[in-house]
Amino acid sequence: MSSSKRLDDLIAALQIMPGIGPVSAARIAYALLDYKRPEGLKLSEILKSALNEIALCPECRNYTDQEGQRCAICEDFHRRDRGVLCVVETPQDVDAIENSGIFFGTYYVLHGHLSPLDGVGPSELGLDILASRLSQGKVHELILALSQSVEGDATAQYIAAIARKHGVKVTTVATGVPVGGDIRSTDGSTLALSIENRREFR
Ligand SMILES: [Zn+2]
Repeated sequence: MSSSKRLDDLIAALQIMPGIGPVSAARIAYALLDYKRPEGLKLSEILKSALNEIALCPECRNYTDQEGQRCAICEDFHRRDRGVLCVVETPQDVDAIENSGIFFGTYYVLHGHLSPLDGVGPSELGLDILASRLSQGKVHELILALSQSVEGDATAQYIAAIARKHGVKVTTVATGVPVGGDIRSTDGSTLALSIENRREFR
């Protein structure tokens, strides 16, 4: 408890952030009040507009500036090879692959993996949108860049079946990504090698 209910509310609210407990939350709250009020107000505006406006890209399901608008990667018609599509579990996986500097295709973001017990089925992962994208006949290779886990493997098999139905070659970047590991926590040079040396998915 502090001397102010508003301050207590701020400290409590800050604790929704991953990795922020009561001690860190109090430190942040006092810093904002003591010497960062303008920056804190700016942060609150940015936070509000990000949370209200950022939506899923209708083409790849990565985050984009607003509802119905394609993301910056899908909008990049000059540099991007639309024949190669990389399927990942999270937007952070896209960032990791982009930072590896080796991939210039497009992406599809699942926001998870198949997990029937948790109610996550094909439609929650947007696999109908993926199937309709593949049915347009522009994609000739689909790269699976999913986590090395039981759920990741099941998801990979499911997506591979959809791709093959549309005559699309399926490859995987599994080599180099540790078992139990995920794309977003693999370092850039390992990731670059894994993508370069991708192999056919069976
Ligand atoms: Zn997009």
